[in-house]
Amino acid sequence: MNIPFNKPCHNSNTFKYICDAFERNQTAGDGAYTKLCNTWIEEQFSVAQSLLTHSCTAALEMGALLFSVKQGDEVIMPSFTFVSTANAFVLRGATPVFVDIRPDTYNLDETLIEEAITPRTKAIVPVHYAGVGCEMDTICEIAAKHDLKILEDAAQGFGSTYKGKALGSIGDLGALSFHETKNIMSGEGGALLINDTSYCEHAEIIREKGTNRSKFFRGQVDKYTWVDVGSSYLPSDILAACLYSLLENASPINARRMEIWNKYDNVLRPFEKQCGIQCPTIPEHCTHNAHMYQILLPNLELRTEFINHLKQHGITAPFHYVPLHSAPAGNKYGRTHGSLDVTDKVSETLVRLPMFYDLTDDSANQVLEVASDFLEKL
Ligand SMILES: *Cc1c(COP(=O)(O)O)cnc(C)c1O
Repeated sequence: MNIPFNKPCHNSNTFKYICDAFERNQTAGDGAYTKLCNTWIEEQFSVAQSLLTHSCTAALEMGALLFSVKQGDEVIMPSFTFVSTANAFVLRGATPVFVDIRPDTYNLDETLIEEAITPRTKAIVPVHYAGVGCEMDTICEIAAKHDLKILEDAAQGFGSTYKGKALGSIGDLGALSFHETKNIMSGEGGALLINDTSYCEHAEIIREKGTNRSKFFRGQVDKYTWVDVGSSYLPSDILAACLYSLLENASPINARRMEIWNKYDNVLRPFEKQCGIQCPTIPEHCTHNAHMYQILLPNLELRTEFINHLKQHGITAPFHYVPLHSAPAGNKYGRTHGSLDVTDKVSETLVRLPMFYDLTDDSANQVLEVASDFLEKL
């Protein structure tokens, strides 16, 4: 039996809604399903505006444009993240400044942010790793004190909260991902969440190729034209139809993932004391969305053996990010602040277990059996 790491999910409405988009002759962007998705997200996340995009990457790029980030500006972010977090700002000529992560949540270490700030710093990009919230109160205080913007990379955080607030709804802007590897997905997809309403009009223009077409569709202007710099960041309504079918089922999807997460945790947590692995840490003031179950092995050699052991039993358990500061482009376009020892250590020892909605109890038990087999011998 082969157990993959991830499997995209759909339900009985997915194809129905997709066909409906065709029957309505609405397959381009901003059709009926896009509007349904945006309204759903605005209500559930309590944000002023949600703008569906074709990816989280697109939402991050829009964020960099909205913050008017330019050549010479600096943006503080973790090195332990996906390339898009940095690329969005590098595309504008800015320099990512990589700061180390916390050893428990693998999120940006909020105690190191302030010393990384220079007169060129423009924004902070907290990444909510594994859907577990960064220390947003401290990060917001620092941003307010130094007049910096916050763009939350909440790609993995759909359905998680920090002190009762949805991840992605706390900073000036937030970015969600609906890539097939995320809890709620449409193959490719994302959304820009806007808290600071002064960004709304500009965001619509950037997303619609630099035109005021959204205003035109609302009847607020009688023709539309090129008014600013922009690009095409809309998803097709076909994808929005797929996404809407999953948004409607977001609760059961995340609840099932949580069952699997808890099942893993019950069996693996005792190995922390027994053999020195590290299981996920969820701060008390955070709720999480069971996006990921990851463990740290004691060292790189043991991680490699562990991954191979699972692979021999048909189980795919990948490691995660190659830290951006050690990647060729990260080296060229970014700089580090202080030591990134925790980042390096975590990236060398972290492994992710299979986690998806359709994972059966039998499969999850098999993962645990094979993993325990290895860990018991350490
Ligand atoms: C998945 C992910 C992204 C990119 O999402 P896309 O929708 O594929 O563009 C960005 N940041 C983080 C932290 C992610 O996990």
